[in-house]
Amino acid sequence: MPERNVVIIGGGLVGSLTACYFAKRGWQVDLYEKRPGKQFCLPTWLSIRSINLAISERGFSALRRLDPTLEKRVKALVIPMHGRMIHSLDGTQTSQAYDVFGKAINSVGRSTLIRVLLDEASQYKNVRMHFNHEFQQADFDAGRADSDLIVGADGAYSRVRQRLMAKVMLNYSQTYIEHGYCEFSMPPRNGDFAISPSHLHIWPRQSFMLIALPNQDKSFTVTLFDQLKTGQDAVEFFRANFPDALDLMGADKVASEYMVNPKGSLMYVKCTPYTYKNRAVVIGDAAHAMVPFYGQGMNCGFEDIEELDKIMLSVARDGMSDDQILRALDTYSSKRTKDASAIVDLALDNYVEMRAKVIDYAYLARKHLEGL
Ligand code: FAD
Repeated sequence: MPERNVVIIGGGLVGSLTACYFAKRGWQVDLYEKRPGKQFCLPTWLSIRSINLAISERGFSALRRLDPTLEKRVKALVIPMHGRMIHSLDGTQTSQAYDVFGKAINSVGRSTLIRVLLDEASQYKNVRMHFNHEFQQADFDAGRADSDLIVGADGAYSRVRQRLMAKVMLNYSQTYIEHGYCEFSMPPRNGDFAISPSHLHIWPRQSFMLIALPNQDKSFTVTLFDQLKTGQDAVEFFRANFPDALDLMGADKVASEYMVNPKGSLMYVKCTPYTYKNRAVVIGDAAHAMVPFYGQGMNCGFEDIEELDKIMLSVARDGMSDDQILRALDTYSSKRTKDASAIVDLALDNYVEMRAKVIDYAYLARKHLEGL
């Protein structure tokens, strides 16, 4: 069987893990990332995305399948959050455990995780990384000499997906929600975390909310999800709605961060199929961007590559013929489009859960009775 080549577009969270998976299978990997080299990992380059994110068992499973030591190394960098802490307007805090057996979701720095995955990919001799290279377009049928397969891991606004749309009858939808987000920081207090580090903190206010996730440096990244208005007096808004958070963050910091920090919009993408013949596939946000309220966008992208790897292995243990690649991609697309579409919907539903239902005690009592 000939040696296989794959071109991966996008060296973000999902693209870098994808590079590792193909390299481990013995493929020659060329990874193209539009951002410039090492600077790419610095938070400023990522400023419009969250500073930290939650990695769950779904994500760990994909790391473990690639290499159990990678999972261990990433686990050493996370802060487990065993439950959510609900902050009422009067300052009362109520802890709600995620799991009776103590399972947790885990806060990890986005730039830390990307760095680990890019370093991991660069350990493979058969991976070539090309930073400062922006994919514009490709003729998927023509590029044979360069690659057998193109993987689009180029995020929510994927160009690879756009090219797929020109080739196949691809159903596609992109929907913006009316709320956006802005990130703030809560510094440590007396050298320690200002609030419990083993919780994901939520200030649910029915139609909007504030959340906070812990960082290794004992600070918290605090995110406001709302219909953000320019010229809004952030301090007054915090004083009226999140007075305890304002005390811990400091009025000056809230005012300046609201002014300076970028305001992100939130949207979700669905498309089907994910593939073109045996030549191209989209993965991660390129295939199924989702709103962040379920904390599953990256986790689901990691699961994509784990699933694809399992399917490829079930089709051929060693080298793959063109037909076998086609069979693997077809199976992947038909299975994964359904699963990912369900997670996109769950993520949307969870916004109402987080900003309103967590304080609806009748709802909580009902959920408790359902569980008995
Ligand atoms: P991206 O992270 O978007 O990476 C795509 C890469 O491709 C980038 O490096 C980009 O520079 C590159 N690229 C783009 N176009 C080109 C091109 N033409 N040529 C070359 N390179 C290109 N997920 C979770 O699992 N848990 C969370 O807690 C969580 N919290 C979130 C909070 C917020 C506020 C947001 C916005 C998202 C959150 N997510 C979370 C979702 C998560 O960030 C995404 O699902 C994840 O980043 C997707 O990874 P990706 O590699 O597919 O895409």
